[in-house]
Amino acid sequence: MEDRDGKIWMDGQLIDWRDARIHVLSHTLHYGCGAFEGVRAYDTVNGTAIFRLREHTERLFNSAKILRMKIPFSIEEVIEAQRAVVKANNLKSCYLRPLTWIGSEKLGVSPKGNKIHLMVAAWSWGAYLGEEGLKRGIRVKTSSYTRHHVNITMTQAKAVSNYTNSILANMEATDDGYDEALLLDSAGFVSEGAGENLFVIKGGVVYTPDLSAGALNGITRNTVFNICQDLGLKLVEKRITRDEVYICDEAFFTGTAAEVTPIRELDRVQIGQGSRGPITEKIQSAFFDIVNGRNPKYAEWLTAV
Ligand code: PMP
Repeated sequence: MEDRDGKIWMDGQLIDWRDARIHVLSHTLHYGCGAFEGVRAYDTVNGTAIFRLREHTERLFNSAKILRMKIPFSIEEVIEAQRAVVKANNLKSCYLRPLTWIGSEKLGVSPKGNKIHLMVAAWSWGAYLGEEGLKRGIRVKTSSYTRHHVNITMTQAKAVSNYTNSILANMEATDDGYDEALLLDSAGFVSEGAGENLFVIKGGVVYTPDLSAGALNGITRNTVFNICQDLGLKLVEKRITRDEVYICDEAFFTGTAAEVTPIRELDRVQIGQGSRGPITEKIQSAFFDIVNGRNPKYAEWLTAV
């Protein structure tokens, strides 16, 4: 990814993609304390727009707050930086990656006194779990790795270090021939995917794990809450067991990268009819209408670049 044309916003300036480098003694590289976001811009009916840009930017600042990092820019400046990056790279639709990290002034666990940096990059990125997955649904495996406990790492921070757990779970599942992992919390209840929130549907009611199971408070998850309300679907946040997923009618993952991806199988147990379910399809279609600017009700969620 390093050797390409383009611009990356780094510490207040747009610089050449190839020059966006950091030192090997950067604190975050050694101890993992940093935070990031995943944001998408869509080629909407009204031109390129970034979806829920303010909410993503606020979550980045909240992640930094949880990690006791003070980002040396305002939320407004970081919003503008993201718009500038999409524009500078002439992207019509893309994935954006803002990341804040701790500098290389000194090592040792305490980062006190080190500089806090911020960068924003953007590039084209299609369906995270495959176009086929969006239509047919994906195959998921319950992970042997437990999702972080709420008082071990901070689960509401989109912290760099939290993702070792996601990487291990995803590699284990994909090495076994599955598309993605489902992680349980330390009490054995369903938490989330390696980079996605989970929803299940049973008897026409939509369920998702409440955040005490350690899942990230996903922005797509919140978008689906709004869609459920619009479609007159009852939505319940509760503790969910692994076997409740086996016997549900439909299931899907949500995430900025994953969008709304149906799940057709968990641990080789077929879910529902083993394909994208009818309610999932309605939610997915409403989601794509919103992000592509086809639903005026949510026009304020799209920031033109
Ligand atoms: N959980 C984890 C662990 C994630 O990495 C993501 C992706 N950010 C999500 C859930 C979904 O969050 P969002 O919808 O805000 O992208």
